[in-house]
Amino acid sequence: MCAVKKKAYGKINLFLDIEERRNDGYHNIMSVMQTVDWCDTVSVSKNNDPEIKVISSNSGIPCDSSNIAYKVAKVFFEKLGIAPAVTIEIEKNIPIAAGMAGGSADGAATLEALNELFDSPFSQKDLILMSQNIGADIPFCLVKGTKLISGIGEIIENIEGSFPECFILCAKPNNVNISTPAAYRELDSVYRNFVGYSYEKNKLENLLMGIREENIEKITASMYNIFEKTQSAIDADVATIKSTMLKYGALGAMMSGSGPSVFGIFSDEAKANSACEFFKRNNIIARSCRPTTK
Ligand code: ATP
Repeated sequence: MCAVKKKAYGKINLFLDIEERRNDGYHNIMSVMQTVDWCDTVSVSKNNDPEIKVISSNSGIPCDSSNIAYKVAKVFFEKLGIAPAVTIEIEKNIPIAAGMAGGSADGAATLEALNELFDSPFSQKDLILMSQNIGADIPFCLVKGTKLISGIGEIIENIEGSFPECFILCAKPNNVNISTPAAYRELDSVYRNFVGYSYEKNKLENLLMGIREENIEKITASMYNIFEKTQSAIDADVATIKSTMLKYGALGAMMSGSGPSVFGIFSDEAKANSACEFFKRNNIIARSCRPTTK
């Protein structure tokens, strides 16, 4: 049976701060996200059984109705008005629960594959609207590239300029597991629910200027992640990975999302590869990536 196969690319946050904590408990964020070419592969095929079947060789993700791919497929068929009968196969490479949006990337790729399999009934805008409440990063994973993100992740703006050619080394510390809701709860407690808080506007403006000028030094000097104020301060492994990246020649290094993944930006491929090999020798999952707009 014919299958549609899509790459599901991960992301890093070059900037991540909080605009406000909303009354419903969610947070309006201000973020600059960048797609990287570390990807899962999602294959979707029609089957004869009236069900959504999720298969993955990676036992670290659920294959039941809690998988993000399952959830988006359910909504897709509800909107299409037909009974679901598909198999979704996920080849997992992006580190799980690491701040690189692996689950959201799988959700976005599943929607793209389903839309192709059923002769494109929906626009990208429709796909964003149907999925934004399932995973906050799904809208960005559908659009991809270098984008300014606000709201809870559903407001996506283009940025003038483009991300310069570079090598983005991503590494996930072993034995550090961060739950995103717990990380937000910790921020709420440290920042007193963000009452009267102002996000780092100057840093964001400098970062946007760096992207506009395609100036990698300006970009790395303006990166910011509020989650580092709590998570990496208490996590020695995150701090060690950051300092190792800088020692190997990264122009800048930061935690992605709510962590614990760390990325380092290198202009020199050999330096990025040396650092990557060092991490692998020490059993740390790592990969030297390229920024992508695909
Ligand atoms: P983000 O950067 O968007 O906050 P993340 O990279 O921290 O996300 P994910 O890898 O997306 O985290 O996984 C978060 C949780 O979602 C995991 O605990 C996992 O069990 C669950 N999950 C459900 N479906 C998937 C999927 N297809 N891939 C990865 N995780 C999934």
